[in-house]
Amino acid sequence: MSERVCNFGPGPAALPLEVLEQTAADIVDFQNSGIGLLEISHRSPEFQGVINSAEALLRELMQIPDNYKVLFLQGGASSQFFMVPMNLLSGGRKATYLNTGTWAKKAIAEARLFGAIDVAFSSEAERFNRVPADSEYAVDPDSEYLYFVSNNTIYGTQFRSFPGTDTMLVSDMSSDILSRPVDVSRFGLIFAGAQKNLGPAGVTVVIIREDLLDRCPDAIPTMLKYRTHADKGSMFNTPPCAAVYVVDKVLQWVKNLGGIEVMQKRNEEKSAIVYGVIDSGDYYRGHAEHGSRSHMNVSFNLPTSELEAKFISEAAAIGLKGLKGHRSIGGCRASIYNAFELEGVNKLAAFMERFAADNPARRIPAV
Ligand SMILES: *Cc1c(COP(=O)(O)O)cnc(C)c1O
Repeated sequence: MSERVCNFGPGPAALPLEVLEQTAADIVDFQNSGIGLLEISHRSPEFQGVINSAEALLRELMQIPDNYKVLFLQGGASSQFFMVPMNLLSGGRKATYLNTGTWAKKAIAEARLFGAIDVAFSSEAERFNRVPADSEYAVDPDSEYLYFVSNNTIYGTQFRSFPGTDTMLVSDMSSDILSRPVDVSRFGLIFAGAQKNLGPAGVTVVIIREDLLDRCPDAIPTMLKYRTHADKGSMFNTPPCAAVYVVDKVLQWVKNLGGIEVMQKRNEEKSAIVYGVIDSGDYYRGHAEHGSRSHMNVSFNLPTSELEAKFISEAAAIGLKGLKGHRSIGGCRASIYNAFELEGVNKLAAFMERFAADNPARRIPAV
């Protein structure tokens, strides 16, 4: 087998090695049943055990109250951009959105198809380099919910504390679910595509307060109604069995390491190392403002785009892969989710220091 590289990819992203190894064995022979994981019926007791376990572990780790449903859906996080307003805003209801990046913007565009949407804050003019303080926006009192993206994967910004409003919160936590404690009772709905912090692509977790299921209009497609999936335990149709299986294993891994508080400490420690290098001089420039810095994605620039290209290719040559920034902002980005190990972060920090020393930026004379 090839040596594993440090995978800084933003999603799909690094998974714990022990989860991959267990999955590899179960793909061929699931729990000594003589049937492979990819072949097993979703109606089998074995798979029912997997989905029950995944739900129970998520409830335990996130302390999800009993009056919330946990759903395992398909269509990616992007399908939640329309499912949320389609289900919650029927009859001309309103909602307030915070525009803090590409994923928020896409969600706003979809929401406008279904309701009256107020965008109360936007950092687009500052290239989405920060998230707002509570004092910077007002939530329309007629709004059903306040929608925000808790971690802006592309720009490397994160709500360090959640919006302080009495309005029900709805959040896209695709890139930081399970990275820190969340008081779920403040939220009407939380969703997350699994491929950043929870497992592989193919399954999206939705945590929804039960009373909201009564709002789902009858006249929308069955598959797009939260109520359908809530009533059938996410088994109205064939769920993405293998993806749910891996999520279960990742949740077990988090639990074995000590749970969400331990993840939070690890993530703070890891991101502090990279930000430490950025702050140690003026060679690297962090994209996010200090108060908005993400513990999950560190987006940064070098003095020139030529140096950035050289940095990315030399890093890849020594096994530090996936450091290219998103095409919308360029530069570099290190995605260091839960499963990304401290050792890889230390390697990156050492490489950044060496690269800066070996490749001094030519001074551009002042005009
Ligand atoms: C990756 C990502 C998405 C898109 O997820 P898909 O599963 O590809 O639709 C949405 N929101 C956030 C915050 C993301 O990081």
